[in-house]
Amino acid sequence: MAVRYCSNCGKTCEHKEIIKQKPSPYGKSRKEQFKAFLSGFFSGVTVGAGLASLELVDRYEQCTHCHHMTLDNKGEEFK
Ligand SMILES: [Zn+2]
Repeated sequence: MAVRYCSNCGKTCEHKEIIKQKPSPYGKSRKEQFKAFLSGFFSGVTVGAGLASLELVDRYEQCTHCHHMTLDNKGEEFK
């Protein structure tokens, strides 16, 4: 857990990291998900191994005091 400032309750307290899978833009069927997998695989080859899987998740930090969740996707690798 990381100690961070929470903008919701205004306290500096422990936050736990929560990782959620992003809703796929490719639809819900298995065939569509397979296409999403291939697309991620091939973009991963060009952009760099590992990034493809990172693109599919959102990182949140949840305040242990008020349970407010803050999206914590740091897109530094794209800058
Ligand atoms: Zn809070």
